[in-house]
Amino acid sequence: MECIFCKIVNGEIPAEKVYEDDSYIAFNDINPKTPVHILIIPKKHIKMFHSVDNEEDKNLIKGMYDIAWHIIQLKNLKGCNLLINSGSDHGQEVFHIHLHLMSKYEVDK
Ligand code: AMP
Ligand code: ZN
Repeated sequence: MECIFCKIVNGEIPAEKVYEDDSYIAFNDINPKTPVHILIIPKKHIKMFHSVDNEEDKNLIKGMYDIAWHIIQLKNLKGCNLLINSGSDHGQEVFHIHLHLMSKYEVDK
């Protein structure tokens, strides 16, 4: 498996984890665009948002927003941007679905 986010899931590549449970991991983006830039991923390898075709994967994607709310509370963020790039022609570079949670405020030092 060449997917770098799968390698983060199984511990082959290190990441600065901010959250983990049975189904999800969230970690700091290696190249942050904002003071807080966290990637929330399902542990299951789902390639992209727009091509999802089954309820299990849809539910995992919906659940990423629950993790975002949890991290927002954890870090006491006063605002954020949430973004999913889907498809190489729409800015996606890593083909393991991820929700960008970005904030210009870093409250939790
Ligand atoms: P996207 O363009 O939506 O596919 O976003 C991919 C994101 O993954 C970019 O913001 C990268 O900085 C980030 N990224 C790539 N490799 C790693 C890594 N090993 N650890 C953390 N973030 C990464
Ligand atoms: Zn993967």
